[in-house]
Amino acid sequence: NKLNVALIFGGKSGEHEVSLLSTASIYKHINKEKYNVFTIGITKDGKWMYYEGTEENIRNGKWVNLANLNVEINLVPMGNKEVGLLFEDGHIEKLDVLFPVLHGPYGEDGTIQGLFEISQIPYVGCGVLASSVGMDKLICKKVFTQLGLPQVNYTDTNRWVFNKESEKELDSIEDELNYPIFVKPANLGSSVGISKANDRKELLEGINEALKYDSRIVLEQGIDAREIEVAVLGNEDVKASIAGEIKPAKDFYDYEDKYINGTSTYEIPANIDSKSMEDIRNMAVKAFKGIDGKGLSRVDFFIDKKSGEIFINEINTLPGFTNISMYPKMWEATGLDYADLIDKLIDLALDSRK
Ligand code: ATP
Ligand code: MG
Ligand code: MG
Ligand code: MG
Repeated sequence: NKLNVALIFGGKSGEHEVSLLSTASIYKHINKEKYNVFTIGITKDGKWMYYEGTEENIRNGKWVNLANLNVEINLVPMGNKEVGLLFEDGHIEKLDVLFPVLHGPYGEDGTIQGLFEISQIPYVGCGVLASSVGMDKLICKKVFTQLGLPQVNYTDTNRWVFNKESEKELDSIEDELNYPIFVKPANLGSSVGISKANDRKELLEGINEALKYDSRIVLEQGIDAREIEVAVLGNEDVKASIAGEIKPAKDFYDYEDKYINGTSTYEIPANIDSKSMEDIRNMAVKAFKGIDGKGLSRVDFFIDKKSGEIFINEINTLPGFTNISMYPKMWEATGLDYADLIDKLIDLALDSRK
């Protein structure tokens, strides 16, 4: 008796393309003896379409023109109508598990998780609260502070205040932080909209750039750091993987480096002392539990190259999931291979809604 799993991909976010890569990879490796896999794509302007076809056409974006528009996707329980996929010939495929393979706003931020709650179909990953807290860098920092997790100094601004009195805002940011300063949209990922400012002019440019993506902006003390990541997995019983280290090819780990050039390298396990390894793994679990995480997350850290201090950077509740992404790679190194990891995530989805 196979389970019907729907991969939901694409989405209305700056990370649409990243989702296509993650989905193509999951679609290729998911255990098809165990699951009937359905693929539901969301276009960049937010239209939902049923797609049945190759992994390749998901990866290259051609699925949009090949989608079957006659299949109705019904996720809201309405009267006697069944929830699931309604095919042209009248038959209905009920969906047992929804797997949002989406990154960024509308996929990783709790909005789609809210729809899934309403659909009453179990889904992979974090719920509404953890997703929205994890996606919002500003709120998340406040929660991390409350949990006693160490972080770099930061401040914030927003479109309304900044547009009204930008010189005063720049002054106050310069009072609180030293250059270099990292400028980030509050809600995004994959380094989209992020820049490193070395002076006031770049700070102004960076804020204007980040404001294209979000109305709230985080400003962080830039540090010269090693970048360590940990994968966490579980519901009540949460496990942290062995940590890995990212070695960006450039000044920082930006979008190009992540997905276009692929010039950065990584090391798993990270070459750090066993005390730091243990501390980082414990902090990752603490962060995950602290935001009410379920299923999976990748937690990113910095180790200051000068002082050796450890800082938590962020939590990603739907991390990149291609077979060469850090999240699955770190599990592989910890003894759980890619297909088994997908299995485990589906089990956790079913388990958390029992
Ligand atoms: P993703 O979700 O893809 O991991 P993101 O868009 O949420 O990324 P961050 O992880 O916060 O963004 O930052 C992206 C990169 O910018 C980091 O991996 C690091 O290279 C650099 N960076 C961010 N903040 C700092 C900082 N305070 N000091 C030094 N480098 C930083
Ligand atoms: Mg992130
Ligand atoms: Mg992310
Ligand atoms: Mg990150």
